[in-house]
Amino acid sequence: MELNNQSYQIQGLEMIELTKKYGTPLYVYDGEKILSQVKLLQEAFSSVDLKIKYATKALSNINILKLLKKAGTGIDAVSIEEVKLGMHAGFEPSEIMYTPNCVSFEEIQDAVELGVMINIDNIPMLEHFGKVYGNSVPICVRLNPHIMAGGNAKISVGHIDSKFGISILQLKHILKVVEAYGLNVIGLHVHTGSDILEAEVFLKGAEILFDAAREFRDLKFLDFGGGFKVAYKEGDISTNILDVGQKVSAAFKQFCLEYGRKLELWFEPGKFLVSESGYLLVRTNVIKSTPASTFVGVDSGLNHLIRPMMYDAYHGVVNISNPTGEQHIYSVVGYICETDTIAADRKMNDVKEGDIIAIRNAGAYGFSMASNYNSRLKPAEVLILGGKDYLIRERETFEDILKHQIDIGL
Ligand SMILES: *Cc1c(COP(=O)(O)O)cnc(C)c1O
Repeated sequence: MELNNQSYQIQGLEMIELTKKYGTPLYVYDGEKILSQVKLLQEAFSSVDLKIKYATKALSNINILKLLKKAGTGIDAVSIEEVKLGMHAGFEPSEIMYTPNCVSFEEIQDAVELGVMINIDNIPMLEHFGKVYGNSVPICVRLNPHIMAGGNAKISVGHIDSKFGISILQLKHILKVVEAYGLNVIGLHVHTGSDILEAEVFLKGAEILFDAAREFRDLKFLDFGGGFKVAYKEGDISTNILDVGQKVSAAFKQFCLEYGRKLELWFEPGKFLVSESGYLLVRTNVIKSTPASTFVGVDSGLNHLIRPMMYDAYHGVVNISNPTGEQHIYSVVGYICETDTIAADRKMNDVKEGDIIAIRNAGAYGFSMASNYNSRLKPAEVLILGGKDYLIRERETFEDILKHQIDIGL
């Protein structure tokens, strides 16, 4: 979003006008930003055979998936529903990586039937898979390298007592199962968590992956997961993607030389591709002053954006109705009956009732984690592409709240 002629705009469209046209609360995505993030990643890894598998769970509107398909990515899906959504959006099964955790074997069988790449996350499932499919279906194995990384315990998934992946300490056990059933392992995967800043963390993960990879002869790819950090605050540092690209590519090429074959290098970014593209636009219902704070109460809350409450995430807030006003300190809070502080003690230009607040970095894990808590409706979503706005999801109606309820006639 840019400030042009005293109004906040995305691709030349005034954000305030979008809220007049579509109402609030409203999710708005800058499609060009998503495309430029894809390009950035492709350029950073231009010296290797990079495959991007967009982490669908970050933002799963089919139009976003189609946009990414056009940009040349595949997807990572963590549920059979995401697999089906990806196929509905036009992805070939071969472009879909299915990375489930603690799902039933039946669900894995459904995914095999759909023809997607299966990423196996635990030893019992590996054995089960071997018994049923032997070497007839190629698979990837998810390893847990036990690297503590990431911004928050809830999004750090690589540590020793994490439920994700098969411990690298159990590599011998994995190899036994692979040998016993003649499993055709063509990929190895690590995903250490979100908000990884340093090339060094990726390199550490890479070294562990390379060591394990030497034990498998038929690999076609190594998958380094997602987790690139993006800037949420002004002055925040984001992952230096060019630095990561250079260092990881160099180490990867060296490994391929040793391995004797060129492999594909996969990444599964979610946040990196869509976080900064998204804004949640909300309307100020009330300004409430207490002796301690001035609250800006808005027409949204943890039902639409749970990250501030769930992960203590920082989301920038801007009063787009008053681009030039004097600054004061406010706390932006939601309308849910629960403490749902969206932003505490922030500077914003003088806020009046009715003003529209833009909440930044709402592209990733925003709408996809939204709920109907307090029987509220989920917002509409708008995609901006080529300077035009497209409604890509209708605002829910009261009928949606009743839709699956069964009145037993009491
Ligand atoms: C969530 C997830 C990702 C994406 O993580 P980001 O932090 O959004 O980049 C990638 N791979 C897997 C397996 C995931 O579960």
